[in-house]
Amino acid sequence: MFACKECQQILEVRDGHNCPTGERQPEISREWQGFIEVLDPEKSALAKEMGIRTPGRYALRVR
Ligand SMILES: [Zn+2]
Repeated sequence: MFACKECQQILEVRDGHNCPTGERQPEISREWQGFIEVLDPEKSALAKEMGIRTPGRYALRVR
């Protein structure tokens, strides 16, 4: 499993990530810790704090 350094989304595969930040070649990392599953970004304080607008899994920390 990988995580995008730009949007912190958890990715199953390294290639083909369509980054919502608009970054065309975001840095994809294997080094990440913890994740949250965001079902409804509007109702999650943490999602708001992290700037998440799309439901999905997000790494809490990406190195
Ligand atoms: Zn991304």
